[in-house]
Amino acid sequence: MPVANQPVWDDGSWTTFPPLHGSITTGTCVIGLGGTGLTVVEELLARGEAVVGLDAADVAAGAAGRNGGFLLAGTYDFYHDAVRKHGRDRALAIYHATLVEMQRIAEAAPGNVRFVGSRRIAADDWELADCQAQMAAMQADGLACEWYDAADGVGLSFTTDGAFNPLARCRVLAANAVRGGAQLFSRSPVTAVQNTRVETAQGTVHCNRVIAAIDGRLEQLLPELVGRVRTARLQMLATAPTTEISVPAPMYYRDGHEYWQQLPGGEIALGGFRDLGGAAEWTSSSEPTEPIQRALENFLRIHLGVKAPITHRWAASAGYTETGLPVIEQVRTDVWAVGGYSGTGNVIGALAARAVVAAAFDHDFAPVRVLLGDHWVPDVPVVASA
Ligand SMILES: Cc1cc2nc3c(=O)[nH]c(=O)nc-3n(C[C@H](O)[C@H](O)[C@H](O)COP(=O)(O)OP(=O)(O)OC[C@H]3O[C@@H](n4cnc5c(N)ncnc54)[C@H](O)[C@@H]3O)c2cc1C
Repeated sequence: MPVANQPVWDDGSWTTFPPLHGSITTGTCVIGLGGTGLTVVEELLARGEAVVGLDAADVAAGAAGRNGGFLLAGTYDFYHDAVRKHGRDRALAIYHATLVEMQRIAEAAPGNVRFVGSRRIAADDWELADCQAQMAAMQADGLACEWYDAADGVGLSFTTDGAFNPLARCRVLAANAVRGGAQLFSRSPVTAVQNTRVETAQGTVHCNRVIAAIDGRLEQLLPELVGRVRTARLQMLATAPTTEISVPAPMYYRDGHEYWQQLPGGEIALGGFRDLGGAAEWTSSSEPTEPIQRALENFLRIHLGVKAPITHRWAASAGYTETGLPVIEQVRTDVWAVGGYSGTGNVIGALAARAVVAAAFDHDFAPVRVLLGDHWVPDVPVVASA
């Protein structure tokens, strides 16, 4: 029987942090200890800032530790779509910034990232033509993109992308953060953010500012973002190690709806079919469901031809925005929010983390504008904290 709602990445080696009890005072309170929140913590510690980090469950208990493990350059949109939506200069600037961030992610957790490239496989003639358009746009701008034609499909190959264990990365970041002086608390759901006072189930943090780094369910903590960040459920499964197929690089199919990779141990991790669930997948539940899991299993058995037993089935929440670009903004005088990566937050989330810290501390909005450009619309006038 598959392990209930546990990602294939979890080797059971982690010792959780204690919950926050009582009252504590700090410089910045970071809410959410996924890849984004932990990168925020890393940036704050580099500035000598005192940090308390809180998570409702545990380090990378959300999407950051339960995702496909793809490290892809660029935005949620394919490059030519990003050029059309955001302009060529911004699309190219984001692409370059994500390439740099991928190197930083690799350096932060040595041995975890495999720069094996990635492949977009076309599902039909329309997508084949779209791959041609994407390749033309990328090659015109000097970005690595080649035509791919092999037994496992036809489409595009991107040599600069990679794969990693997302949970292992976050655990390394959390251990580094504690060594650097951060105080991190698990099982401490934030129940209210009253500017510089943050209430958890059993404690209170008094601070100078708050940075909420939550992807899915961000709008539940900060209702200002209702209508701008919408939470969806994404589901995956994984098999026992197999040699039935060889998947040297992360693959995505049908405009990225389905995605799979083979882990170094031979396991296949496969996700997708969110669109099959329709409205039912716009939910903050992170429990796997029978229809989506059945579709994933059929795809595994029929499309990929893998008969290996399924060992893991899991789901997690991700935050979506209208533009496909994240939210990075000051929602209240001393409260900043970052999240909403539309299902591709491993790299953009880390960039957004660095951008929100630069904005909150240096009033330097250049990194925010690289990511968001004209889409950056603060709800309240930006007010400087000391
Ligand atoms: C199945 C799946 C596959 C995906 N595949 C990929 C992929 O291959 N590549 C890619 O780039 N992206 C992928 N994504 C998206 C990516 O995982 C996310 O965008 C990214 O991990 C978000 O990280 P985060 O740290 O911003 O947020 P999260 O991982 O959501 O972390 C937020 C944390 O905040 C905590 N929290 C929530 N509410 C509260 C509260 N009230 N109080 C305290 N703590 C709270 C949660 O417990 C959680 O640990 C995938 C997502 C899913 C769900």
